[in-house]
Amino acid sequence: MFKLFKAIFKAQKKYLAFFGIVPLLLTTAMIPVECPECEGRGVVSSTGMHNVTVVRLTYTTDINPVVGCNNYLAYKSSIHLVLLNSGEDNAHGYINMVLLDVSVGKIITTQTVTAEIPASTEAAYDFDITFQVYVDNPPITRVAAEVVNSDVQCISCNGKGTVAANYWPLVYVMKDSLKASQRIDKPWTPPPWEEPWEDL
Ligand SMILES: [Zn+2]
Repeated sequence: MFKLFKAIFKAQKKYLAFFGIVPLLLTTAMIPVECPECEGRGVVSSTGMHNVTVVRLTYTTDINPVVGCNNYLAYKSSIHLVLLNSGEDNAHGYINMVLLDVSVGKIITTQTVTAEIPASTEAAYDFDITFQVYVDNPPITRVAAEVVNSDVQCISCNGKGTVAANYWPLVYVMKDSLKASQRIDKPWTPPPWEEPWEDL
């Protein structure tokens, strides 16, 4: 009699566990939480450039006629650019250097440069860029820098930015290996080259 009671009790415990755990799993499966891999962005950067920000940009510009050409001027800018990589991985990618027409807020021309920024580092770069500009262009210009992101859809959340609460611990534990699998060392192609004076 006692044995039977024990068996029933055991079974009940199992049922208790079943009715306790299954609804818990079902409920947590319904609760969307921020994806720990992409931190809710839905995309991860294959090059780490989404952690890179422009801290400072100073420059001086010399304007000279392009040798052998009457229609264009060469804007030679000596640039001092400071970039911060706030991520835990080294970043490598592209920075668009943009020459702006301040009077109408229009991009006159863009030049792309490459950059490598070690993890958690503020790095300074000094380089020269020559923009070729149509001679009639207004002289009020400004140089700006813009970080080019090369984002890919996050595989953990399929680009949604959220995962089910019961899936979260798995993604959290796997975070680094998932990140590594998405950080494919494939050559990244720079943005298509545009004729700088195309729409002038
Ligand atoms: Zn994600």
